[in-house]
Amino acid sequence: MSLFIDVKVAPVVASDRVLAAKLTEVCPVDIYAQNEDGTLRVVEPNLDECVLCRLCIDAAPAGTVTVRKLYDGGAAL
Ligand code: SF4
Repeated sequence: MSLFIDVKVAPVVASDRVLAAKLTEVCPVDIYAQNEDGTLRVVEPNLDECVLCRLCIDAAPAGTVTVRKLYDGGAAL
């Protein structure tokens, strides 16, 4: 379980193979990966490596990816 970062991805994005591939590509610390069927998986052990770069947020439709700093009162990026 992550101590510092929580990432939420809307099901409509997680099930979209093109967006899943995009998120997997942009995250510099491999927080996203694709399952065998192309759907998105959040790699929980990597969550605390998040560098708060916002690349995943910018790569997906507005409001579908949320990155929250659990150590900062749960503030979203
Ligand atoms: S903010 Fe950057 S490091 Fe954090 S999950 Fe998104 S792409 Fe990865």
